Amino acid sequence: MEDQLYVSYVNYLTHGVLPQRLPSTKSNFVSAASKFSLDPELGSLMRNGKQVLKTSELDVVWRQLHSHSGTRKMWKRVNDRFYFRGGERWVREKTRSCVACAHKNNSIWPAHISPLRPIKCTPKPFWRIHLDLCGPFPKSKDGNAYVGIAVCGFLKYVEAKGNFIFINIIYIIIIILTSK
Ligand SMILES: [Zn+2]
Repeated sequence: MEDQLYVSYVNYLTHGVLPQRLPSTKSNFVSAASKFSLDPELGSLMRNGKQVLKTSELDVVWRQLHSHSGTRKMWKRVNDRFYFRGGERWVREKTRSCVACAHKNNSIWPAHISPLRPIKCTPKPFWRIHLDLCGPFPKSKDGNAYVGIAVCGFLKYVEAKGNFIFINIIYIIIIILTSK
């Protein structure tokens, strides 16, 4: 609820004073105000036993209650404690703009979390060859869907070929050449 409207309701319920600028008609305002009550201890506006949220309080509430647990749980947490008209939409929009929430469903595969361990490499061309397969790609005329990749660990020289046998031949040649 807008802070100004909140103050208007508090003033009306405490002193019976109507705001100078009514948001709509007098009867509408009085009827709306009758749905709220004042908590004498907190001094805050209440509705259905819940504290009414002011616009200026939203950021604090978000910081205190948000735990990247998704829209539904966050809205339940807000709604259990506070009266907030339009709150569900607010929670949905805030959750959408939260980076951590956005990445929640594509969290990193646990194996990737372990620290990287450098592989020992003798500074010699073709001493170590890294082989991998890329794909599947749309099938070629020859029916290949994968591309074999060979990378020299030292030179970073790359060979790529659709026919993986080709890569294996290169690999065997390299082994023969380097084992001399
Ligand atoms: Zn989040």
